[in-house]
Amino acid sequence: MQFPFRSLLASLAAGCLIVAGALTADEGDKKLKVLIIDGQNNHDWKSTTPVLRRALEACNLFTVEVSTSPGKGAAAEEWDKWRPNFSSYDAVLSNYNGEPWPEAVKMQFEKYVGDGGAFVVVHAANNSFPEWEAYNQMIGLGGWGGRTEASGPYLYVKDGRLMRDTSAGRGGSHGAQHEFNVDTFDSSHPIMSGLPKTWKHAKDELYDSLRGPAENVKVLATAFSPQSKKHEPMVMTVSYGKGRVFHTPMGHADYSMLCQGFFTILQRGTEWAATGAVTLPVSSDFPTADAVRSIR
Ligand code: ZN
Repeated sequence: MQFPFRSLLASLAAGCLIVAGALTADEGDKKLKVLIIDGQNNHDWKSTTPVLRRALEACNLFTVEVSTSPGKGAAAEEWDKWRPNFSSYDAVLSNYNGEPWPEAVKMQFEKYVGDGGAFVVVHAANNSFPEWEAYNQMIGLGGWGGRTEASGPYLYVKDGRLMRDTSAGRGGSHGAQHEFNVDTFDSSHPIMSGLPKTWKHAKDELYDSLRGPAENVKVLATAFSPQSKKHEPMVMTVSYGKGRVFHTPMGHADYSMLCQGFFTILQRGTEWAATGAVTLPVSSDFPTADAVRSIR
């Protein structure tokens, strides 16, 4: 009896090893590929791109690559060489706010998102490209760059209702940086599922008075701006063609991003944009209403 039993154990063990090996390879294949775009920004992209990469890689669901555009004032020949292959990624994250992309890159990007790609918009990426209509459709709301009522309405929450305000005025503003609470507006959305109703975000710029086409936008969370006296969108989704966009105006600097709340929101928002679902759990050290949870 001993021999067959042992060989059965050996077969099982070998089988398990093979299965385990197969699973590991399979899991590797299943990781979501994210491309971060940077290279120009009125913010310190050289210090924030590594934090965005760290945030995504921290949850073991994503692999991250970075495509850095030519710098400001670069020659046309430099731009001609910059052709990110968007369609080979599950999601594209923009940490870019600068000169217009070449027409060929713009067209490829519109096709990528429109055909079902995923786009993640962080902070000043929503300042970019005020003249690019499709881009503004994708981000839903933007700021600065001459944006006015011609760009579309303001969007904010008042008395528990989403308001579309077409009144005249500039798009984009913020007060002094501070810690602020982020309040869930749509708890039914997968990105927000399981998050506390309110949590304290690390020191950041609280963008207010963003405006844009604001079509197909879902506001998932807001923060009350002492400057605008309004509940401003902090977590949004936008649908563009068959594509899904996740947009957070948070993330001014490395210290703003080094926040367990920001990490979690970015991870879950990116997963949702890439797949339409969220499997990532909420961290046990998620910030509370009273306490920031910084990441060192
Ligand atoms: Zn900023």
